Amino acid sequence: MSNTLPKIAWIGLGIMGSPMSENLIKAGYQVTGFTLEQEKLDRLAAAGGSAAASIAEAVRDADVVITMVPASPQVEAIAYGPDGILDNAKQGALLIDMSSITPQTSVDLAKNARGKGIRVLDAPVSGGEAGAVEAVLSIMVGGDQADFDQAKPVFDALGKTIVLCGPHGSGQTVKAANQLIVAVNIQACAEAVVFLEKSGVNLQAALDVLNGGLAGSTVLTRKKDNFLNRDFKPGFRIDLHHKDMGIVTDAARNVGAALPVGAVVAQLVASLRAQGDGGLDHSALLRAVERLSGAQV
Ligand code: NAD
Repeated sequence: MSNTLPKIAWIGLGIMGSPMSENLIKAGYQVTGFTLEQEKLDRLAAAGGSAAASIAEAVRDADVVITMVPASPQVEAIAYGPDGILDNAKQGALLIDMSSITPQTSVDLAKNARGKGIRVLDAPVSGGEAGAVEAVLSIMVGGDQADFDQAKPVFDALGKTIVLCGPHGSGQTVKAANQLIVAVNIQACAEAVVFLEKSGVNLQAALDVLNGGLAGSTVLTRKKDNFLNRDFKPGFRIDLHHKDMGIVTDAARNVGAALPVGAVVAQLVASLRAQGDGGLDHSALLRAVERLSGAQV
């Protein structure tokens, strides 16, 4: 039987892109991918996808192009570059950018793509690596209703809570708010961990009971073991959260919203990065609190 599902090109097979693209393959989609690391291309091929040698080759026959790269400069490079998506994708293709980038970059991308006959959605996600693997991501989408409706079956294979938030850029604005909430939550948990340990309380017991009450959170559920075992293998890198704190701080300033606690946490993330911890998981905010509390870490 021929495969009538849209053909997918996937650009950016990192911590998130690899498991997400594999979920599309499991759902029956034909996926052709491109990324910078050869071992990630090998992983895609082993999972039943096709590895392309360039972005142009990956997107040429695709009905839907999905991008999942670190930040705005990479999105701009893969979209606008000479070998990029806008010059090589089919007229009528749908470009879904799932990276977390500035809302303005998404708005500009949609405008520039329209001139080439390519439709765009911004569709950043929340739920972390585990959410990607388990296909339970929250997907916050900006763009036109008709494009959202067309993309919905693809989103359904990747996530659980899928919401069109408004016009182009809205998904990114909601994602920026998400990153504010997550960072502040991790910081509060990290401060609690140091306080509890210095007080001599059994940390495992404390975190278990806290997580059952009003202090409980998805952050605590997902990051509890990172705190307990000082396991800071990423996950979500501090470098990326630093980028996101910059996005939310800037976007809030543009609309006149004050983020006093967010601003402090943004500084703590920046400081952690400056001390060489940028490649660690964002639960490593614990290390910043430990340093401030006099520990040698
Ligand atoms: P990552 O660094 O693990 O992966 C990024 C991938 O992009 C790499 O495989 C790299 O090869 C590829 N890439 C970069 N430039 C490229 C180019 N020019 N051409 C082709 N491929 C290119 O990052 P990640 O953790 O997967 O995050 C990706 C995006 O998702 C970021 O915007 C991040 O903020 C967001 N995000 C991450 C998480 C998480 O928990 N890791 C959760 C939600 C959202």
